[in-house]
Amino acid sequence: MSSASADSVRVHLRTYGCQMNVLDSQIITGLLETAGFSVVEDEAEADAFLFNTCSVRDLSERKVLGKLGQLRHARARRPELVFGVCGCMAELSGERLLHKNPHVDFVCGTNCRSHIPSLLVGALQRRLDIAHVTRHNACHLERLRGALASLLARIPPIETNCLIGTAIPEGLDERVARRPHPWHAYVEIMRGCSNFCSYCVVPYARGPEVSRPMDEILRELEQLAAAGCVEVTLLGQNVNSYGRDLEGRSRFALLLRRVSEIPGIRWVRFLTSNPYDISEELVETVASSPKICHQIHFPLQSGSDRILRAMNRKYTCAEYLEKVARIRSAVPDMAFSSDFIVGFPGETEEDFAATYAAMEQVKFANAFIFKYSARRGTAAAALPDDVPRHVKEARHQALLALQSKHTLLAHEAHVGSHVEVLVEGPSKRNPEMLQGRTSRFFNVIFPGQSWWAGTFRTVRVTHATPLALYAEPTA
Ligand code: SF4
Repeated sequence: MSSASADSVRVHLRTYGCQMNVLDSQIITGLLETAGFSVVEDEAEADAFLFNTCSVRDLSERKVLGKLGQLRHARARRPELVFGVCGCMAELSGERLLHKNPHVDFVCGTNCRSHIPSLLVGALQRRLDIAHVTRHNACHLERLRGALASLLARIPPIETNCLIGTAIPEGLDERVARRPHPWHAYVEIMRGCSNFCSYCVVPYARGPEVSRPMDEILRELEQLAAAGCVEVTLLGQNVNSYGRDLEGRSRFALLLRRVSEIPGIRWVRFLTSNPYDISEELVETVASSPKICHQIHFPLQSGSDRILRAMNRKYTCAEYLEKVARIRSAVPDMAFSSDFIVGFPGETEEDFAATYAAMEQVKFANAFIFKYSARRGTAAAALPDDVPRHVKEARHQALLALQSKHTLLAHEAHVGSHVEVLVEGPSKRNPEMLQGRTSRFFNVIFPGQSWWAGTFRTVRVTHATPLALYAEPTA
């Protein structure tokens, strides 16, 4: 994010949810900065707040609502402050959100990001019309009026309090994204999802799968590589079906091969792969390209076939395990990660035991484990949420403990070996140290020079915990 400019409108943008939302926020930041706004880290400097929201879990929604509730008081003190909500919550429950939070000026759906500068200008204009000048805020309001006047000369305002929600992709040029580092880029290869897993809001919040044309993606990646990008993460809700809407069959393996040919890009990652349609061509492509990282997010969700059916996941646990075995036979050091939901409606002890057993068998390098919460509008929301809270909690704790054991095993297997890392910068826990990722996405902490950020280094792993590998640089 940029620092505050003296004569611009300052927007504080908060991001909730997945990597898709992180990339959306990078695009929104680019749109705002191109339009003449400053995007600021510090809430105290902000003239406007924008929330890029997530509806996938109840907890993410509660975090947004809690923060909006706190900011209601800020509006009482500063009537000129603007509040906007975009992303999945805006798309799915924008009207209700406006009704319950009258201090919110606008909501804007997931595929209308290009409207955000105009919505902010319209809201700011209205707020400034009703703000009273006092001796405490006179200078501030004068600055803001000046900043708004220069925006109005370029941006047509959109009337505030309007609900702009649509799941039709807008064909925005993603190259406006402001990425925090030149060496890594998230690149969206498709938007939306057509799978309709019964617990998931994504198909409603982001619409059906729409792939970006391959040439457009490759052009963007070539430009990123020319600007110093060495690692890319290709994003889609189900990358395995990339291209199906364009050509009637998946072109993801082809896209991976073409991306791997781009000079300068050394590591290629992708997220997320729905297990039901991973292809033999994709497995062979990953096995044969040295640039494609040996890391796959491969969400199992449950080990019980009965629950998988109720989730509309389109595979059985045995089929999933066969695919894991096939991938491991082609890429023996593949690091698997997964998502799990415990306490899905009707989940019995036997169903849960099947999940536990599957987890024991695969020994994931990492897993994200969630307690089921009904999401409004999904098929599963019509089922009774009948697993008691304390049972969900106990199952959640049991899987967390098992995963921690497996992650430690995966980490300990590195002790004594040399690994290559892409240095990210200072460690979040100990800024005296550096932090980086291996190609298999293991987190490594080691001493070094701050200018190493964005470079590849080889380090020797000395010890491991469930959270990270600890290493020393080699000569
Ligand atoms: S594949 Fe299923 S879980 Fe993933 S985004 Fe699509 S509907 Fe949601």
